[in-house]
Amino acid sequence: MPIKVFIPTPLRPFTEKRDTVEAEGATVGEVLQDLLRKHSQLQPHLYSENGAMRSYVNIYVNDEDIRYLSKEKTPVKSSDTVSIIPSIAGGVDVAVETDIQLSKEELLRYSRHLLIPEVGLTGQKKLKAAKVLVIGAGGLGSPVSMYLAAAGVGTIGIVDFDVVDATNLQRQILHSTNDVGRSKLESARETLKGINPNVVIKTHEERLSSENALELFAGYDVIVDGTDNFPTRYLVNDACVLLNKPYVYGSILRFDGQVSVFDARRGPCYRCLYPTPPPPGLVPSCAEGGVLGVLPGIIGTLQALEAIKLILGEGEPLVGKLVLFDALKFSFRELKLRRDPNCPVCGDNPTIHELIDYDQFCGVKPPTVEETIDEETEITVEQLKARLDRGDDLFILDVREPHEYEIANIGAPLIPLGELPKRFREIDSSKEIIIHCKSGRRSALAADFLRKNGFKSVKNLVGGIDAWSERIDPNVPHY
Ligand SMILES: [Zn+2]
Repeated sequence: MPIKVFIPTPLRPFTEKRDTVEAEGATVGEVLQDLLRKHSQLQPHLYSENGAMRSYVNIYVNDEDIRYLSKEKTPVKSSDTVSIIPSIAGGVDVAVETDIQLSKEELLRYSRHLLIPEVGLTGQKKLKAAKVLVIGAGGLGSPVSMYLAAAGVGTIGIVDFDVVDATNLQRQILHSTNDVGRSKLESARETLKGINPNVVIKTHEERLSSENALELFAGYDVIVDGTDNFPTRYLVNDACVLLNKPYVYGSILRFDGQVSVFDARRGPCYRCLYPTPPPPGLVPSCAEGGVLGVLPGIIGTLQALEAIKLILGEGEPLVGKLVLFDALKFSFRELKLRRDPNCPVCGDNPTIHELIDYDQFCGVKPPTVEETIDEETEITVEQLKARLDRGDDLFILDVREPHEYEIANIGAPLIPLGELPKRFREIDSSKEIIIHCKSGRRSALAADFLRKNGFKSVKNLVGGIDAWSERIDPNVPHY
């Protein structure tokens, strides 16, 4: 009973250029064995020396990945089609040019890699030929780029447009104390070149956007996201899906981390996992919620590991899996992710064919509109200072947490955002109310809440106590 086997383009040289071949068998394993009897040159592409199926080859029966069926024991009938989906069509296709050579110094430097059969000379040349783009030279971008540079990834691109801030040093190990005030990219280049002068560091000093993402990503084999905001995350995902690039995802907050590899050609994408972003303000950023300094080290190192595995084509990448790390419990959990056939970008009938406005999609104001404030609902620190100096009778409310209040405060009564629903009656509703938090996000939520509960005059202090410390009173500690 012949079964149709679909052969992908890169493997057709081994099947006399045929795109479908018939093979006999009652299970996927038997069909593949028959296929190899007829086309023995396929053998090394499908199986390793020890007879195990290559982890970068996926086999589908009709629409189903056999990993979710009975693997090689999956039964087949004559109406079925077996498809071979190798990583060349679904993973990283690093073009190792034949003239890639390692110098004597490099052979010595990478000696501990060369000793591992899974890397060896071939793998080390693949690493040298590979181009990885790291988005953000911050907490995650630091260990990612440092380990990639040390491992000998030939070209590392970094996108960032920030300068090093004193609050970065607790976790962003690319930068040191002397770098405060300096461009993160300059500082990163110096650190990475110090680790390995053989690697090419390409710096892209710009804000990643729908306008530049596709062009930027096109020059790289793997995209590693080290940012902590939702617009960038959806942007990176969609650009990777549209360009068929693997996206190594990592995220961190407080004591929790997540890692995955999204590759829409052989698994789900980020939108399959989270079709829509949380409403703005619901999930705090690291700047708002804090992050344990060592956590990005752990998660970023795992991202570097996945990027290296993708380049080498070794092992099982975290495609279709989401790893959750809880640092307080020291627990790793692994969740299975499924591709969503209704996903708007990688599904069967995608509705997104080009990059969209991600700030709008995530309900976030783009950072440039900070100066234009809504006079009805917002107030700047300068305006507040002028009104206080004038002696206006205002009720200023702080909605941060007590441990933040302890670090710095401007003498305003404290009701943490979470306690507001049961304590808002403590607020004098006859006065004009100005609410502040650290950066203005939590206070915006608090202001909305009070308005919904009948408070007439409520304004959010744009930029929060951060802006107050920066622009009005430097004696208020910045944290
Ligand atoms: Zn998807």
